[in-house]
Amino acid sequence: MVEDLEQDSFNIPDDLLDSIQHNIENIIKTFDVPEENKMEVIKQINYMYSRTKYLSLTDELTELPNRRCFDNEFNKEFLRAQRYKNNLTLVMFDIDHFKHVNDTYGHQCGDYILKQVSKAALQTFRQTDTVYRTGGEEFMVILTETDINQCIIPLERFRKTIETMLLDFNNQNISITVSIGACQYSPDIKTKEELIEKADNALYKAKNSGRNQTVLNTCL
Ligand code: GH3
Ligand code: MG
Ligand code: MG
Repeated sequence: MVEDLEQDSFNIPDDLLDSIQHNIENIIKTFDVPEENKMEVIKQINYMYSRTKYLSLTDELTELPNRRCFDNEFNKEFLRAQRYKNNLTLVMFDIDHFKHVNDTYGHQCGDYILKQVSKAALQTFRQTDTVYRTGGEEFMVILTETDINQCIIPLERFRKTIETMLLDFNNQNISITVSIGACQYSPDIKTKEELIEKADNALYKAKNSGRNQTVLNTCL
């Protein structure tokens, strides 16, 4: 029962939340209090609402959109691709041997690297391609309007950027690599979970073939 309640509360759609906020504003406007007080209360509610919304969709460490945000956005993009046959490629990447980095240089260094990798991803991909931190050292990128053959160029550029990135933490030079898996939507993929699984399989193959490489689902 408790689980059901929690599930429901996570499923309130964004537009319904926006309309609840709007209704609260309208109720406050009818209160018999000075106008400036009403305005102040509305301002504070708006601030709290947008701040809460931002925090619920953002990863605190890297400031990238988080898993919940990914789930919302990917759902929309998947439906769009299904309906309008738009190109859609899902990318997953994961830092190689990150546990070893933490064990060798410490957790703070690990956090620093996560931030640097996030910055590099934001700089490499187009602004229309959103990068999400969906797990500890796992990221997803939704590439819209890109087919699988075009996506190899930015993915390889990103992989090489990370491979050659100069990381300096407390005067220690550290190098890292990432493994990348990608899969393009096609009409035979019926659910978004299937597309995620195919991208995950590609990433798994990249890991098992020696890491620091990009695998596209077409090669599987
Ligand atoms: P692989 O190449 O197979 O991906 O190996 P890996 O060591 O990267 O993978 P594994 O899943 O064994 O370890 C992931 C590590 O990521 C373990 C965990 O401590 C670390 N990690 C997860 N989240 C964070 C974080 O927020 N900060 C830091 N510093 N480390 C994190
Ligand atoms: Mg890893
Ligand atoms: Mg991992």
